Amino acid sequence: MISKILIANRGEIALRVLRACKELGIATVAVHSTADADAMHVRLADESVCIGPPPSRESYLNIHQIVAACEITGADAVHPGYGFLSENAKFAEILEAHGITFIGPTAEHIRLMGDKITAKQTAMELGIPVVPGSDGEVKPEDALETARLIGFPVLIKATAGGGGRGMKVAKTEDDLDEAVSTARSEAAAAFGNPAVYMEKYLEKPRHIEIQVVGDGEGNAIHLGERDCSLQRRHQKVWEEATSPALNVEQRMKIGQTCADAMKKLKYRGAGTIEFLYENGEFYFIEMNTRLQVEHPVTEAITGIDLVHEQIRVASGGGLSVKQEDVTFQGHAIECRINAEDPRTFVPSPGTITLFHAPGGLGVRVDSGAYAGYRIPPYYDSLIGKLIVHGRTRVECMMRLRRVLDEFVVDGIKTTLPLFQDLVSNPDIANGDYDIHWLEHYLAGDPTH
Ligand code: ADP
Repeated sequence: MISKILIANRGEIALRVLRACKELGIATVAVHSTADADAMHVRLADESVCIGPPPSRESYLNIHQIVAACEITGADAVHPGYGFLSENAKFAEILEAHGITFIGPTAEHIRLMGDKITAKQTAMELGIPVVPGSDGEVKPEDALETARLIGFPVLIKATAGGGGRGMKVAKTEDDLDEAVSTARSEAAAAFGNPAVYMEKYLEKPRHIEIQVVGDGEGNAIHLGERDCSLQRRHQKVWEEATSPALNVEQRMKIGQTCADAMKKLKYRGAGTIEFLYENGEFYFIEMNTRLQVEHPVTEAITGIDLVHEQIRVASGGGLSVKQEDVTFQGHAIECRINAEDPRTFVPSPGTITLFHAPGGLGVRVDSGAYAGYRIPPYYDSLIGKLIVHGRTRVECMMRLRRVLDEFVVDGIKTTLPLFQDLVSNPDIANGDYDIHWLEHYLAGDPTH
């Protein structure tokens, strides 16, 4: 059994994990950089350890310091949250070598899914539908032949990709050379690896992902889908469950395909299988072997606490639910509240002078922010998540409109005004949007 968990993260997700630990009666250790000494996750944890100066690579990404913090405090497990070390196979191995449980999948599975090409090959072998594309890496000299086989437009993607970097579209043969070389140089700069592969570029897909959880022994379930099509620069902005585009049969079919694949893999922990969805077809793009930012919408409609499940399976306790006991109740929407200008998305760090989180039935705010909190400029700009649940999508949208009016964050710019616009937009009200909708909308494109 796990008795003390070190949370190797910061911000709202550190708080989220801490809450689950408290509910389970597990002691908590927060780690923090010097810039986060007064952060909420530090205040609420049973113990805390300073692991270094502000830059992430010297603190939140510093494996030696985190392992030392485990040894000092006697933590017997680590929850990595998302980002930082959550998909670092070496970190999982080092912890295991020190007799510390990594709350996540095996290092082998993290590696398998961390490389986009092996992930795609594995998905195919497991019976998951994938986007048509190249057989592995594409060298610049083979790009034209491969692109002709796939058919234009094509998308060039970094094999080590993440966060939408190293990704370029070639609409025609004329664009190809430039797309390949820019993608390669972006990939080299961002990931230290220029390798790219190629996919059919889908013109108007939705981004739909399936939440899975496995016990590592061959049992796995799915918790339905999330629709994360509202994106800016490939970054999710608004997520909802269920997807306005799917019916019950489609949900259960793709969900079961994913659960069966995870059973075959003997996957342990929470994971997300991401798809593009167009004309009734699903195309695998990647799998994230960790908890995701948008997991609360799934929790809202299933009533299942995903962090509880992660901790249970990591301690060998198995899943708390069977597939037949999973039900989907109503509709949930998450808005990512970033400390950014709502039009230009330029980060707006600074001190929050006033903070009032909304409440009432069906409202959840996951945030470490408070009045007087100074947002450090070193990390990503997510300062909180607003999750609203209703019996129907219409009720959920009505509630969201009310809740956005109530939310006050003063002293900095936030993305809250963007959500106020979106919630009254007819396309959003109708659930009629694809992955390009938000970019067109922000650019003032009249067709949207
Ligand atoms: P990353 O790991 O960099 O986030 P993903 O493979 O998850 O990369 O893709 C991120 C986003 O890029 C997707 O949500 C989608 O918006 C877009 N995208 C990825 N693959 C394709 C494709 N084949 N066609 C069209 N858009 C794509």
